[in-house]
Amino acid sequence: MSGLLHRLSRAGRRAREIVGSRMAGGPPCGACGFPGRPLERAVLWPELVSQWQLGPDWHRWMDQREGSRCARCGASLRSGQLAAALVGEMNRLAGSAARHLREACGDARVQGLAIAEINSAGNLHKHLARCRGLRYSEYGSQDPAVPSEDLTRLSYADASFDLATTSDTMEHVPDVDTALREVRRILKPGGAYVFSIPVVWDRATRQRAVLRDGRVEHLLPPSHHGAPGDGRHDMLVFHEFGADVVDRCRAAGFELELLRSDDNPALVTFIARRPR
Ligand SMILES: [Zn+2]
Repeated sequence: MSGLLHRLSRAGRRAREIVGSRMAGGPPCGACGFPGRPLERAVLWPELVSQWQLGPDWHRWMDQREGSRCARCGASLRSGQLAAALVGEMNRLAGSAARHLREACGDARVQGLAIAEINSAGNLHKHLARCRGLRYSEYGSQDPAVPSEDLTRLSYADASFDLATTSDTMEHVPDVDTALREVRRILKPGGAYVFSIPVVWDRATRQRAVLRDGRVEHLLPPSHHGAPGDGRHDMLVFHEFGADVVDRCRAAGFELELLRSDDNPALVTFIARRPR
């Protein structure tokens, strides 16, 4: 098939997917507001499932969290829920009444908020990038054009942000408690850290690796996020979080609210506010 025909057939398939999703209906995407049934795709690979010791239910729930995507904007259920939580905090802090992130980030009051996107929240970045108060970095950035922030030693001043966000990053940080206190430090009183982490809620946290004198020591065989070959396979898992992570957030000085899904226990977003 020629390049043009190939592109046309791909565009046709995408258009059919969007129409089909819209007709099936579903809750609106937190990122773009599209009310359609997410497109499903299995994304976990057998090696990860076995290292993580996920049973069939948690395997399915984690797969949906990561693999089910908005037919229009491509946000995963995880990113869509993270977006919805961000919008709630933006509305609270800026006095706006946005329904989804695309709308929120077009509102001048939200654009004036100081936001630390400490790692890119998937395809939410294109919306957040419209906010003039955004400071964008990546955790362990390999791109010289994108600054890298160490979550345990942020370069930002005390009480300088209304909002901070990370997306499935804390599990890759060796010292979670220091990182949580560090994010709290850069938030203004009343500000919020909105983040996602994978949590298996019927377990306790398990530590797979520690950092001793700057060197990684493996307590369990190394496990990585990012599928083999996708360029993110270097993201070593230090912690497999369980329900006790909630206490660690509170111990770091946050007032915690969890945004949960009615039908997927793996789909949870953390809203951690710095008390006023
Ligand atoms: Zn969407």
